[in-house]
Amino acid sequence: MIIMEKNNEIILSVKDLKTYIYVNNRCNRAVDGVSFNVHKGKTLGIVGESGCGKSITASSIMQLLPKLSRIESGEIVYHKDDEAIRIDLLERNGKPMRDLRGADISMIFQDPMTALNPVYTIGSQIKENLLYHTSMDKKSMTNKTIEMLEKMGIPLPHQRAEEYPHQFSGGMRQRAMIAMAMSCNPKILIADEPTTALDVTIQAQIFELMQKLKEEHQTAIILITHDMGVIAETADRVAVMYAGKMAEIGNVYDVIKKPKHPYTVGLMNSIPKMGQDTEALMQIEGSMPRLNEIPQGCAFHPRCNQVMEQCKKMVPPMIELEDSNIACWLYPS
Ligand code: SF4
Repeated sequence: MIIMEKNNEIILSVKDLKTYIYVNNRCNRAVDGVSFNVHKGKTLGIVGESGCGKSITASSIMQLLPKLSRIESGEIVYHKDDEAIRIDLLERNGKPMRDLRGADISMIFQDPMTALNPVYTIGSQIKENLLYHTSMDKKSMTNKTIEMLEKMGIPLPHQRAEEYPHQFSGGMRQRAMIAMAMSCNPKILIADEPTTALDVTIQAQIFELMQKLKEEHQTAIILITHDMGVIAETADRVAVMYAGKMAEIGNVYDVIKKPKHPYTVGLMNSIPKMGQDTEALMQIEGSMPRLNEIPQGCAFHPRCNQVMEQCKKMVPPMIELEDSNIACWLYPS
């Protein structure tokens, strides 16, 4: 299967993004030269173990980076209205960026308290987003708020809209935040481990809603997760990250069914399959290196069962194969 990337389908392009974190005068390369495209109405899953740089990549797009982090170089371009308008997100800050955030590009965070303000009611926070980004009148905003809470499976939405975040359980806060992120029908929705704290029934409801948003509004979704099962069910393309770099990227079917990069192969082998003896599951030996201890050459080489001499010295470039792009010396250009 050949990766089709017609330019007019690309809504977001990230090129050679480098985001570093500075701690005690040391530069840690959290995101180190990452490139990918996101397509209109499609889901790109970004996977990898904790610390691989997936959340920092998402925060770089939103320009909501933690303290001590800085985008060093690269390009993040939002192609608004089918390429008619090209917005370089790294040239935007302050109000122009705030105008895009929440309307065109929205994010669902892992921790709902990152997005919810404890001193305002849940309903007023969803309405504030609608007030800032739409021309709805008061009644329509109230109706939309109730509708979104109801869609998220929050019981008695009229009543709960008047409550404060501390009156909601953790799972309900997560759903309220998702309601807020989806309320303006964003063109791009970034979901960073959106359902980690939720039970499977609510998880399924939320993925169904995201799917609906994608189909009805042609929303592009960037789904960040460590759960390959969720990726298999919801994503169209998948990008595998390791130690701040892209290891492999391609159509979900190709990457999941025929993984090529030894790290992707390891991830796939560690997922339980129907009827498989769990004792037969393979784990990738070792762990993701700390940011200040990333080895020379291919960062995966200390854990790789196919390591060669050159892997220890040189970083493999990303090369284009017929069905995926991959950074590994096993696949010479
Ligand atoms: Fe393994 Fe070498 Fe490929 Fe890295 S470049 S994944 S060490 S074979």
